[in-house]
Amino acid sequence: MLESLTDRLGNALRSLRGQAKLTEENMTESLQEVRKALLAADVHFRVAREFIDRVAKQCEGQAVLKSVTPGQMIVKIIHDELVSLLGEGSTALEDKKPLRVLLLGLQGSGKTTFAGKLALHLRKNGYTPAVIACDVYRPAAIDQLETLARDNDILFYGERDSKNVRKIGRNGWEWAKEQGADAIIFDTAGRLQIDEPLVKEVVDLKKEVQPDESILVADAALGQEAVNVAKTFHEAVGLTGIALSKLDGDTRGGAALSMKAIAQVPIKFLGTGEKVTDLEVFHPDRLAGRILGMGDVVSLVEKAQDTIDEDEAKRMAEKMQRAEFNFEDFLSQMQAVKKMGSLGGLMKMMPGMGNVEVGDKEEKKLKHTEALIQSMTLQERQNPQLLNGSRRARISRGAGLPVKDLNALIKQFQQMKKMMRMMKGPKARKMMKKMQK
Ligand code: GDP
Repeated sequence: MLESLTDRLGNALRSLRGQAKLTEENMTESLQEVRKALLAADVHFRVAREFIDRVAKQCEGQAVLKSVTPGQMIVKIIHDELVSLLGEGSTALEDKKPLRVLLLGLQGSGKTTFAGKLALHLRKNGYTPAVIACDVYRPAAIDQLETLARDNDILFYGERDSKNVRKIGRNGWEWAKEQGADAIIFDTAGRLQIDEPLVKEVVDLKKEVQPDESILVADAALGQEAVNVAKTFHEAVGLTGIALSKLDGDTRGGAALSMKAIAQVPIKFLGTGEKVTDLEVFHPDRLAGRILGMGDVVSLVEKAQDTIDEDEAKRMAEKMQRAEFNFEDFLSQMQAVKKMGSLGGLMKMMPGMGNVEVGDKEEKKLKHTEALIQSMTLQERQNPQLLNGSRRARISRGAGLPVKDLNALIKQFQQMKKMMRMMKGPKARKMMKKMQK
C-alpha cells in the first residue's frame, strides 16, 4: 500500500535527516525532491505546489530545538503537513440512531463490497444494520448485494420488479424499521459515468430518505480521476464523505493525498482488500505516519517540543507566583497555545484547569485579546500601568475593537494580578490550608 510514495519521500528526506546544518541550498534541493515525489504519486500539481510552499514557510518560522537536528525537524513538519493535507478533524460518521447512509459510486468502484463492509463495521459499533438495494437497472447487482447480506447475516431489502427508486427507498426504510434496524444503508445504482438521469435519481432518493451521510465509494487506483469523480459528485448531489476503496492495490497515493484539497470532501474509510473485513476507519495521522514511515523521528521531535512547552509553562508558573506576569508574558503564552492548536491545550498546561471546556466563543475572545495586546508597544505590555486614556484609544483603534473590550481586558488582568498577589501572602497560605481541610 502506497509503497512507491513512501520510497520516493524517503529518498527525498534521507539526505536531509542527516544534515547538521540546513542551508537554503540543501533545503531547496530536498523540497524539490519532495515535490517530485508528490507529482510522481499523481498528486494534483496545485496541491503539490501549495504543500511545498507551506512546508517552506513552516521551516522559516520554526523555533530551533536543541535536542533534534534541523533535518529531523523538517521530517516532523512534513508529517504535520501531510496530516493536514489528508484532512484534519473528525472523520467519524454522524453519531446518531437511526443512522441513514446513502452510498454512491461508479460501476466497479467497490460500492457493493463497501455496503457489506460498512454494515459489519456498524454492527460492531452497536447498530443493527440493513442494506436496501436501490438499483433498478441491474438485477445482477441486486443479487450480489443479497448474497453478501445473506452470507453475513445482514438484513436485506430489494424490489426486483419496480423501477421507482424513491418508492423502493421509502419501502425499504419502513421495512427495515419494522425489522428493528437502526442503521440503514441505501445502495444506489452504479453507472459508468455521471450524467443527468443519475444525478436526478440520486437527488430524488435523497429527498425521500433524508440521509445523514452520503458517501461516495471511489477507486483509489484511478488516482486523479477518482478525485475528479468525487468533485463532480459533490457539486451535483452533495457528499459527506469518501470511502476510498482498493487502497491495497494503490502504490502511489495520489487520490488519498489530493481528495480533501481538490474535492473538498473528507475521506472517512479506506477499503484495503476484497474481504468484508478489509475496512479501516480513516485516521489522517496514522496514514501520514505510514506514508512517511519515520515514526521514530516524528515522536522524537514531538518529545522535544513537549519539553520546551513544559519548560515554558514552568517558567510562567513561577512568574505568576511572583505576581510578575505582564501582557508580554500573556502574549507569548497565547502564541505557544496557537502553536499547539487550541486554547484547550493551554488549559491543560495550567494547573487545575485541565478539565475546562473551551468552545468557539472562547477561541474568538482569545483572538481579540491577542489583537489588543499586539497593538500595544512592548513598553506598554511590560508596564500596564502606562495605559492611560489616549494610549487605550490608540490600541483599540489598532486592533479594530471597541475601547470597552480593552478596558475589560485590563480590568481582568488587574484582578488576575491581585489574585496572584493574594496567593503569595501568608493570608493566602492560611486560606489554602483551610480549604484543604
Ligand atoms: P460495484 O460495482 O461498485 O458494486 O463494485 P464491487 O463491490 O462489485 O467491486 C468491484 C470489484 O472490486 C470486485 O472484484 C471486488 O472484490 C473488488 N474490490 C472492492 N473493494 C476492494 C478493495 O478495497 N480492495 C480490493 N483489492 N478489491 C476490492
